[in-house]
Amino acid sequence: MAEGDSIVRMARRIEAAFGEREILGAEAPNPRSPLVRTASRLVGHRLARTETRGKHLLLHFSPELVLHAHMGMNGGWYVYGPGQRWRRPRRSAWLVIDLGDLEVVEFGGPTLRLVRPVELSRDPRLARLGPDILGGPEEVAKACANVAAVGTVELGEALLNQRLVAGIGNIFKSEACFEAGIDPWGAVGAFERGQIDRVLGIAADQMARGVETGRRPGRVYRKSGGPCPRCGGRISSRGQGDDNRTTYWCPACQS
Ligand SMILES: [Zn+2]
Repeated sequence: MAEGDSIVRMARRIEAAFGEREILGAEAPNPRSPLVRTASRLVGHRLARTETRGKHLLLHFSPELVLHAHMGMNGGWYVYGPGQRWRRPRRSAWLVIDLGDLEVVEFGGPTLRLVRPVELSRDPRLARLGPDILGGPEEVAKACANVAAVGTVELGEALLNQRLVAGIGNIFKSEACFEAGIDPWGAVGAFERGQIDRVLGIAADQMARGVETGRRPGRVYRKSGGPCPRCGGRISSRGQGDDNRTTYWCPACQS
């Protein structure tokens, strides 16, 4: 699943694939792609830079052309060399960028659009994004203040609220709370400020490691029913918040 760490890694992979290459062809094989009529506008461009904001990926091609993508639960980017086997059928791709010796491919997700930068600044989803968990100590400090301010909201739900802190998804929500020994079901206001700072600091560290190594902690996420690596008790899981996103936790050592 695409959380902030994997978005940054994806941006790096895409940057490496592009290098100085010029786009020789661009098409949207899937008729449901939002780029069916506009993909060809990419032809002739080179990638100027990539940018990530939480779970949003921005590919800047020129001062007037930006590709804005959000992978959601099911979207994904891939880079394929000649003869390499694709993980999903070409006809289902939303975007195929031909770089000559490489193809950069995107499948699905809630957002894929070509816009001018001025439209980005008007995008309410981007405008509402909170500080980026991978944005460094100052951003993390702002995120802590934001989360600490929503007293009645359950911690697990607050951590997923991209207006409070951008980039954390279901995996790091669960793993950071476990590492901190904090109950994700507790209302934010029931914790001391130091605990809020601790859980967000841990999430930032875990995700920064994820950026560099591609690995995630994996101690409770999707380990429901299995033994807790700390106390040996049974790991629980249950949907949390308005979107019913599954939280994994150890009731014995996170209370
Ligand atoms: Zn435990």
